Amino acid sequence: MNQAAYHELIHSYQADFTMTTTHTLGFPRIGARRELKFALERFWKGEASAQELGAQAAALRQRHWQQQARLDFAAVGDFSLYDQVLDMSFTLGNVPARAHAHHGDALDAPLHSYFRVARGRSQGDHDHACGGVHAGEMTKWFDTNYHYIVPEFSADTGFRLDTARLDEQLAQARTLGVKAKPVIIGPLTYLWLGKAKDGSDRLDLLPKLLPVYAELLAWFVTQGIEWVQVDEPALVTELDARWQAAYASAYDLLQHSGARLLLATYFGRLEDNLALACALPVDGLHLDAIHAHAEIAPVIDALGPDKVLSLGVIDGRNIWKTDLHATLEWLEPVQRQLGQRLWIAPSCSLLHVPVDLQNETTLDPEIRSWLAFAVQKLEELRILAHALDHGRSQVQLELVENAAAIDRRRASKRVSNPQVAQALAAITPELGQRASSHAERSLQQAALLQLPSYPTTTIGSFPQTAAIRQARNAHKKGELDAAAYEEAMRGEIARCVREQEALGLDVFVHGEAERNDMVEYFGEQLDGYAFSQNGWVQSYGSRCVKPPILFGDVRRPQAMTVKWTTYAQSLTDKPMKGMLTGPVTILNWSFVRDDQPRSVSCRQLALAIREEVLDLERAGVRVIQIDEAALREGLPLRRGEWKDYLDWAVESFRITANGVADETQIHTHMCYSEFNDIITAIAAMDADVITIETSRSDMELLDAFDDFSYPNEIGPGVYDIHSPNIPSQDHIVDLMRKAATRIPPNRLWINPDCGLKTRNWEEVLPALRNMVAAAHTLRAA
Ligand code: GLN
Ligand code: ZN
Repeated sequence: MNQAAYHELIHSYQADFTMTTTHTLGFPRIGARRELKFALERFWKGEASAQELGAQAAALRQRHWQQQARLDFAAVGDFSLYDQVLDMSFTLGNVPARAHAHHGDALDAPLHSYFRVARGRSQGDHDHACGGVHAGEMTKWFDTNYHYIVPEFSADTGFRLDTARLDEQLAQARTLGVKAKPVIIGPLTYLWLGKAKDGSDRLDLLPKLLPVYAELLAWFVTQGIEWVQVDEPALVTELDARWQAAYASAYDLLQHSGARLLLATYFGRLEDNLALACALPVDGLHLDAIHAHAEIAPVIDALGPDKVLSLGVIDGRNIWKTDLHATLEWLEPVQRQLGQRLWIAPSCSLLHVPVDLQNETTLDPEIRSWLAFAVQKLEELRILAHALDHGRSQVQLELVENAAAIDRRRASKRVSNPQVAQALAAITPELGQRASSHAERSLQQAALLQLPSYPTTTIGSFPQTAAIRQARNAHKKGELDAAAYEEAMRGEIARCVREQEALGLDVFVHGEAERNDMVEYFGEQLDGYAFSQNGWVQSYGSRCVKPPILFGDVRRPQAMTVKWTTYAQSLTDKPMKGMLTGPVTILNWSFVRDDQPRSVSCRQLALAIREEVLDLERAGVRVIQIDEAALREGLPLRRGEWKDYLDWAVESFRITANGVADETQIHTHMCYSEFNDIITAIAAMDADVITIETSRSDMELLDAFDDFSYPNEIGPGVYDIHSPNIPSQDHIVDLMRKAATRIPPNRLWINPDCGLKTRNWEEVLPALRNMVAAAHTLRAA
């Protein structure tokens, strides 16, 4: 008997008592065809009843459990009508009072309260007089593009268990014979995610919160549940000693519930929380073996002999096939060491990937063969478990197929382009360096542009009207030919220029009518990008995004925006801003390559967009805006890693922007307002003008500029484009006067918070009229 055959035999013998447990931390709930989105929107509009919404939700859960049928445990309770954090707030009875008690909606009151917190209104809340309340604050879920509803706390927040939602889902799972592992957010992460509105310390609420958790866990036991997954991803962030101590005391108390707890961490490394996480008195720990691979061995050492270790062996945040062979190479020894104590799962909830590759019919077959969406990832998990338990030979066909796909991708000529590699190697520091300082450039730009003080401009897009969307859809379907489509877009651009003339703005934009999305538009024209038809990922509530797939070296075959911008410029004497999306934002809003560092992909994007910048300049465009809307959200979870990220992000922006002559004015735009912690990096980008979102915060965010004097020009947003409200001239003057106390007036611009594409012309025109009038008032003073 040779050695391989011997191992096979041992394997098959061991199989009887060492079975690897498979599970998933969560599954996408939106539906492969966004069924939940459409059901929700019908309900909100009053076109469907609560019963119909409930039925659609139940049908989706059933389908999603069927898709998890080959796992040892299916996730239950991860399904949410809007957001899992908001669900947890309801389970814990932490519901803001403003969401309760409305006009005769007693029958479905909890559902209505739920949507009021989620989005400010529910079905039937037609007018503000009887309905709308202010929605819960929404923010990003760790470093993903998913947004959760921030739990609201105050010193006197109380908690009360409400199992209604979990009860419904568990009962359904029981009826269907699903082996259920409920998923909840753990008490520390729940507090960590929230905000105390009254300045109190949210950690002080823990003693009030824990009894409710204990009650919940005990209730699970009465429901016949064995394992409960308790998500504690806050453990991958920097925690101070108080929070660490709170972890220890909380789980000390919860250990006696009778339920077995699987403590789930994901998205990153445990680092200085590793010993703490491993010592907590729980029954198992889930570690993200993709993003914290190096911690597998130390965790095994620290975990002790009895606990289950669940390893997230498949990337739950990206869409590439797993290299099963490479995974088995490191996983088999771990399995030999842990035996039955080993569980395997995707690295995190599959919420962050699209549902099913099966629905992609137009994707290039070669690229499609490199991908795995949620359903395919669970199949990979099954293959891995089978190989671990019964030997690789038992899944030989699957492994061979997988290896072939991995090899094809690695060798594909479409992935690597030697020219791109050369261009990258030729990057020098000078590439990202303007010839002169901003002080000198600004004189040349002033002479060329002849702008008044407090110049007015907008952020790029004008309303995306129904006519624009119809033209685009007709063009996509082939009902409108390219020439007719272009004609329609030129018509929109001309309208946009006319309106800006009438308004008397100073620096114009072409309005971005031709763009469906600020990332997709560029991705579609760059080599190295592919697009799915149904690759939807939930962003928040019913909103989904379809991130483009960056699979290969990036190259720009031809100019992407020049014809639209020069056409717009031909219609006016006012300066027309060229409008581009920056490399960091394109990267952060795509599914990116896992075969090279993000920084390398980013530099490739930087070189491609740089060419566009230079083409625009050659075509006579004097002002070019490069949007970096998503720069901040790419920040790593741990501060220790910020510098590295900001270094390459800023370098990429500089490569993109700084090849222009001194008299060309570079703008950048960021749609957020928390700058304090990254202001030096933003200054290092060295854009001549930066426009930011500030109107809602009453210019408070300009606090950042108290301690650090930003050297270049700034346009703090004065028009909240997320609201239908129209800011008055006085209000805008007021905001700008506040700004002028922090920033020298000769460096201030006046502009809205962000693009206007989600607004309509009836709102935009009066708002911009007031903005221009405010500029006149300020100039006169
Ligand atoms: N130029 C883009 C627009 O105006 C910017 C959008 C954004 O920052 N999200 O729509
Ligand atoms: Zn913006």
